[in-house]
Amino acid sequence: MKKIAIFGSTGSIGSSLLNIIKKDKKTFEIKLLTGNRNYKKLIKQAKFFKVKNIIITDNTSFLIANKLLKNSGIKVYRNFDSLNKIFNKDKKIDYTMCAISGFQGLRSTLDIIKYTKKIAIANKESIICGWNLIKKDLNKYKTDFIPVDSEHFSIRSLIHFDKENDIEKIYITASGGPFRKFPLKKFKNISIKDALRHPNWSMGKKISIDSATMMNKVFEIIEAKKIFNLKYNQLEILVHPKSYLHAMVKFSNGLTKLLVHDTDMIIPIFNSIYDNNEKKIKSKKINIQALNNLDLNKVDKIKFPVVKIIKKMHEKDTLFETVIVSANDKLVNLFLNNKIKFIDISNILLKICSLSEFSRFKLIQPKNIDEINNLADYVSLKIDSMGI
Ligand code: NAD
Ligand code: MG
Repeated sequence: MKKIAIFGSTGSIGSSLLNIIKKDKKTFEIKLLTGNRNYKKLIKQAKFFKVKNIIITDNTSFLIANKLLKNSGIKVYRNFDSLNKIFNKDKKIDYTMCAISGFQGLRSTLDIIKYTKKIAIANKESIICGWNLIKKDLNKYKTDFIPVDSEHFSIRSLIHFDKENDIEKIYITASGGPFRKFPLKKFKNISIKDALRHPNWSMGKKISIDSATMMNKVFEIIEAKKIFNLKYNQLEILVHPKSYLHAMVKFSNGLTKLLVHDTDMIIPIFNSIYDNNEKKIKSKKINIQALNNLDLNKVDKIKFPVVKIIKKMHEKDTLFETVIVSANDKLVNLFLNNKIKFIDISNILLKICSLSEFSRFKLIQPKNIDEINNLADYVSLKIDSMGI
């Protein structure tokens, strides 16, 4: 049996993975599931899959679940400090999925690397802020890494047998989100409901808002730069409303490879857990109609000004990435709580990026997670002090 753990099992990615496992229950033993607030769903999952350990990070939810599960045989932990009670470095589990949303995913990603043979990371924020720390630990503990973000999963598949320095350019596609055709003058009235209505993908709230502002693509460019060890000028966004083409890689031998698959996260998730085609997936026929008209375009920088952030990035892994991710996390939260308007997310984010107090972090490499967390707290306080 494959021993596995799922961080963020109550979310969109976590639940999709559990749906795959449900069809092949005998192959897997789930050692740990984690959630934040939705303790009811987490308890249901734990009972169904006979999981003995769960982590619930939200304090109130932890207290309720702990009471409900007394004498149930399911141990409830309140944070990731308890991983050493669940896992053993000398008996690594086979696979971990990191699917917590937002900046908070970094800590758990770093904490689990030593206990797992393979780590699938959907949480792009952790890769963006902590790649140098993650990479160090992947090497130290000889843990295999697989990106789950569909574009990065596609790039990885395209360059599998090629050398990094053979890559000339990588194009990452973007659906364009719900406001691609929305008139600019109406942007100031965009509601939470409008922004959450993604045309192609069904995802958690945070990433749906990031897709609406196009910050998701900014993150994906930074994520690709780090994972595949490229320069920013080797990466470009192409708007592709059908979301059928996920990545395109131009090589220095004159070849260009494209990767297409259905608009369904099941494909990268499924392939992250099964190795070497050990199991087949049911998928649709090739969509010739979509291939006949890929409809690729540049991003509209006036409607989606956050894409300008890519030009402000430094080539090294720095703490500036934490500034962007934590500021965006905070602003998306404020928007989802009705405290700021949709356009404020981009405007305030660009303002934060231009402040010398923050741009100085472009020269500083993160040494440890505390440095990253402290800076994120400071950015959050700074936004509070801006009188929003
Ligand atoms: P989601 O909001 O549906 O689920 C998030 C999960 O994280 C939940 O289980 C929640 O309980 C947990 N969580 C939230 N805040 C937490 C905290 N502070 N501490 C501990 N746990 C916490 O999100 P999702 O759509 O499944 O996305 C998960 C990650 O995968 C994100 O980083 C996202 O960018 C990335 N991703 C998602 C998709 C997608 O299609 N959903 C695609 C590509 C990448
Ligand atoms: Mg993606």
